[in-house]
Amino acid sequence: MGSLIDGFGRKIDYLRISVTDRCNLRCLYCMPEAGILHKPHEDILTFEEIIRIVEAGVFLGIDKIRLTGGEPLVREGLVDLVSALSVIKGLKDISLTTNGILLKEYAQALKNAGLKRINVSLDSLKEARYRRISRGGDLKEVIDGIEEAIKAGFTPLKINVLLLGDIEKKEIVDFLRLTIENSLCVRFLELMPVTSFYLQDKFISSAIVMEIAEKIFPIEEIRVFGAGPAEVFKFKHALGSFGFISPMSNKFCSSCNRLRLSSDGILRPCLHSDSKVDLRQPLRQGRDEEEIRQIIEEAVKLKPKEHALDKKKSKTQSDFFMCSIGG
Ligand code: SAM
Ligand code: SF4
Repeated sequence: MGSLIDGFGRKIDYLRISVTDRCNLRCLYCMPEAGILHKPHEDILTFEEIIRIVEAGVFLGIDKIRLTGGEPLVREGLVDLVSALSVIKGLKDISLTTNGILLKEYAQALKNAGLKRINVSLDSLKEARYRRISRGGDLKEVIDGIEEAIKAGFTPLKINVLLLGDIEKKEIVDFLRLTIENSLCVRFLELMPVTSFYLQDKFISSAIVMEIAEKIFPIEEIRVFGAGPAEVFKFKHALGSFGFISPMSNKFCSSCNRLRLSSDGILRPCLHSDSKVDLRQPLRQGRDEEEIRQIIEEAVKLKPKEHALDKKKSKTQSDFFMCSIGG
């Protein structure tokens, strides 16, 4: 197996794959209410094409992948894709980011297929607030999905909480307290200025949450496999942990190890840069594995040193939707 090193000496070993741009929710910060204009069906990569890209990536040094979207569980046959990916030699970790709505139905099958880890995005523990943020989501379905995933053996399960301006201190405390008696890792994410929603919302930093946590119990910092850019902590004697992903207040670009593949086959070295390469056309033109590898290497060379989101708080920001690029 090779090793992919970018122009700034970073080792690239992680690929996030958006398997669809469709979603069964319409979160305020991610999708417009009417949805986005979906990519034509024929432009979406087939499972065979995704598998070829992953095989080429693994040859070059990718050993972890994450399936995301849109909502990955709305893509028909996702369990079969996981089964096929899980037998690729050299691929050590397959994980999934989901809104959890369909998780109850699929958790056990995903475990049997070889999925290793699941992150559930859940921004509120209050039914009405959750419904408002997700524009119609049913909190109970997500909670049932989380319980089923834990039953299937996906522990510790990660819960991603986007820090939206109207989150109350009490709700932050409730999320933190969940980690005391449950094998969960609750991770608080800072909102990134990628849609105009950001401009209307109050920014809540990780530091504000940490201040609240410090008043609950004594805290220790821990090292966790697959934590990526998250800083992880736990309350003394707690079963679970909590963490922070702080793209705004604590840039982690210097240790970024990822590439992103969109559902229509565009490979991006950074979520916040316009650099990209197309893999779909070459695959459909019958290019061989060596040529596909060269295109992946090209994307790695295009990886910028860092994002400039912190300088982009004005209306000049790019207005893209995470659901179409792959969050
Ligand atoms: N549908 C799945 C889900 O919601 O988990 C996977 C795709 S979603 C785009 C992936 C993640 O991106 C979610 O955890 C969501 O909170 C995050 N996200 C979307 N827009 C964001 C933004 N503007 N800033 C930070 N995170 C964002
Ligand atoms: Fe759908 Fe996930 Fe975006 Fe919410 S964050 S609209 S669940 S893709």
